[in-house]
Amino acid sequence: MATADTPAMKQYKRFKAQHPGCVLFFRMGDFYEMFYEDADLAHRVLGITLSQRTAGVPMAGVPHHSVEGYLKRMIQAGHRVAVCEQTQDPKEAKGVVDRDVTRVVSPGTLTDEALMDAGEPAAVAAAHPLKDGRVALAWAELSTGAFGFAAVDADEAAGELARLSVAELLFSDPDDGSVPPATEALRRALDVPASPRPGYTFRPAEAVTLLKRQFGVADLGGFGLGDDDPALPAVGAVLAYLHETQRTDPQTGRLPHLQPPRRLDRAGSLIIDAASLASLEVVRTQAAAGASGETAGSLLGVLSGNGKATRTPMGGRLLRRWLCFPLRDAEAIGRRQDVVASLADDGRFVNELSVQLKRIQDVPRIAGRLGVGRLTPRDLVALGRSVAAARTLAEVLGGREPVAPFHDRLDPLVGPLMGLAETLDDTCLQEDAPSHLRAGGVFCDGFDRELDAQRDLMQHGDRWLAAYQQEMSEKLGIPVKVGFNKVFGYYLELTAVQAAKLHDRDAATAGWTRKQTLKNAERYITAELKDHETRVLAAEDRAIARELELFAGLCDQAAQRIPQLQAYAELAAELDVLLLFAERAAKGGHCRPTLVDGPVLDVAGGRHPALDELLGTGFVANAIHLGGAGRAPLALLTGPNMAGKSTYIRQAALLTLLAHTGAFLPAESATVGLTDRIFTRVGAQDQLHAGRSTFMVEMTEAAEICRHAGPHSLVILDEIGRGTSTYDGLSLAWAIAEHLEAVGCRTLFATHYHELTALAGTRSGIANLHVKARPLNGEMVFLHTVEPGATDRSYGVEVARLAGMPPAVTDRAGSLLEAFEEKAAGSADRVPPPPQRPTVRGAARSKPLRPPKPQLALFGLPEDHPVLSRLAGLGDA
Ligand code: ADP
Repeated sequence: MATADTPAMKQYKRFKAQHPGCVLFFRMGDFYEMFYEDADLAHRVLGITLSQRTAGVPMAGVPHHSVEGYLKRMIQAGHRVAVCEQTQDPKEAKGVVDRDVTRVVSPGTLTDEALMDAGEPAAVAAAHPLKDGRVALAWAELSTGAFGFAAVDADEAAGELARLSVAELLFSDPDDGSVPPATEALRRALDVPASPRPGYTFRPAEAVTLLKRQFGVADLGGFGLGDDDPALPAVGAVLAYLHETQRTDPQTGRLPHLQPPRRLDRAGSLIIDAASLASLEVVRTQAAAGASGETAGSLLGVLSGNGKATRTPMGGRLLRRWLCFPLRDAEAIGRRQDVVASLADDGRFVNELSVQLKRIQDVPRIAGRLGVGRLTPRDLVALGRSVAAARTLAEVLGGREPVAPFHDRLDPLVGPLMGLAETLDDTCLQEDAPSHLRAGGVFCDGFDRELDAQRDLMQHGDRWLAAYQQEMSEKLGIPVKVGFNKVFGYYLELTAVQAAKLHDRDAATAGWTRKQTLKNAERYITAELKDHETRVLAAEDRAIARELELFAGLCDQAAQRIPQLQAYAELAAELDVLLLFAERAAKGGHCRPTLVDGPVLDVAGGRHPALDELLGTGFVANAIHLGGAGRAPLALLTGPNMAGKSTYIRQAALLTLLAHTGAFLPAESATVGLTDRIFTRVGAQDQLHAGRSTFMVEMTEAAEICRHAGPHSLVILDEIGRGTSTYDGLSLAWAIAEHLEAVGCRTLFATHYHELTALAGTRSGIANLHVKARPLNGEMVFLHTVEPGATDRSYGVEVARLAGMPPAVTDRAGSLLEAFEEKAAGSADRVPPPPQRPTVRGAARSKPLRPPKPQLALFGLPEDHPVLSRLAGLGDA
């Protein structure tokens, strides 16, 4: 029989209904409770005990003082949490206590330090399909106030969002509980949770209204946004979501730290799509089956020393941004290089700058918490210290030519920032201020007269208690102790033995009320103590209230400076990354690449930026020559497995990418043609792609490359065509190579199809390269050096031997290979018979193997061969 809901349960259900898709943390006393399916979920995700309430309702709770840790785990598991607080003192409640949802915590809208990783941006994005086939995108980092938008082709949406490290995706709810296929594809590509949002939040008109209110402007022209901009639906949806999670009223409230939305400048950056970002391991290593990749070992991880090499948290995040959005403008790259070059030559200057930068803490996120009203006392102390570095930093930067632009940017900020530093100095805030305001203890003595007065009363109270304890002890002639507990406040305590003797001295203890009997002690309260308590508690309350008031005042003052704080932090982050580049260049003897306009990549003595570091001196440097004077832009790279083909082609891509960030390269010299896009189709990540076969994934990526690669692109292909039959694979690889040669893009194509190397003989735009290896005493020696020309053979049999294949199998393979090769040369017409006793069961039953046709047979593919027509379709789809 269903029992009627209690008033609290009715309240719970109301909030739950108001926050669809959220787990509700419902404050009850010292716990946040979850009910029904939320309790089950919490049990699974947080591992907390599930209990049954009287009415059989499943319930699970977490203690309020450790809620942040539980919130973090919920968020990491991809859930959103609505936190419902008691907004009324339960003592004052008539009936059920007032509650309200004070914030919604979601993976893409985090601001609290405890919930975030200092090196990872947490952005929320909205994606909305447009009638013209494109997708409206918008994204924001609530933690720092960054806000951007774009309208891109549908197949480019995942790439852009991946570069932005989006943690949560919003989509317009079709109202039937389904997730539209395009959203689902994006969600999978990004591996982030998707949150349905009411359709009206995607209306352009709604967006215009919200934007005007948020930024206090009459029109959006200043942001480069017309009233009919295609990105508006996404921009509006993101903005509405930010307000909702922070419980600010979107009609009236503002998020003061949110920056005006900026259109993504795709033309200004080297574009890297999601697959390339992943396969080049730019910001995280490739996910192994069932596990997600890590920063450690990625380009970002190596450059940043796993987050330890940058001096500031925002510097670490900016490095990620620079790697994901390399520049495409030679002048802008040159400006960064100039700074790197001059810093690399001046160790003392680097040290001086370092000292100042290290004083600057996570100012962008502190400004963010200021904006959403969640600043902590510790943040305020950190802010004070951070801004106090402004003047010295400006002095260090002054008079140095290459960093003059930084000095010029900082100069106008020094005044306002130092003003704030003086307000927040150590006469105001206690050095070891707590992380929350609840118990006060934030401000220094002497800072505020009223606070001092209340504190004096509290301290005076302590003295009074000490005197009272002494007086009572003397009166009774036995030691009496004064204590305090939360239940009944101050009390006098006697040991049980002494208490037993008390009746003799009734006069002295007249007015004592026995309050609690413990095993070895008795506790009493007296009217004097209660009186005192009221006075002290009142003073304490007043002191905390005063601290709250002072704190709010300082937050208001600091909030006036948010734009300056953001500019200061941005500048510090840039200097931080440039310092890092300089230090690496000096330490590793890196070269300054020359960026030119033509489609060329010329590197002498180049090393893989990440592996070089991980392998140390064992890494073999190699030259790369693609395009430019008389050189083919496309090279086919052959060589045995494990020789270093993948490493070499990734190295080419990573060096190209790094050159566009302004960093110096681990090479003797480098000339890099400005590159519009880097494409990769690299094997290895053969994990199951959401039910798509390896071949399908490979072809989808190859198709994208064929469609989008232009003369200024760099294309890296590894083993195209593996996932299908030899002929299909070979013909696809062949046709793709021809297509890319015609495009003229720089291409490195690692392949096992030796037949492909014939292309170099007939096409001026295609050359052969091979990675050297040679058998020595039955073992393979990998030299890892890349040289012109095709490899003579693939050494597959030797590599198989190295891998521990039984000799009977490798011997048989060896003789088969000889026969195939003879046959290819036209002298053999029969596969050699298998040995008398097959070493592999069933081998005798298998069909006789057919040797591959000689290369020329390829030209004999009928013109209407389905593979060719499919290829033709790739080019102009
Ligand atoms: P392939 O693609 O030819 O199978 P990989 O590029 O995967 O070979 O390289 C195989 C291994 O050889 C790598 O794990 C790496 O440790 C090593 N290696 C590759 N290139 C170099 C190099 N230039 N110097 C030193 N070691 C290398």
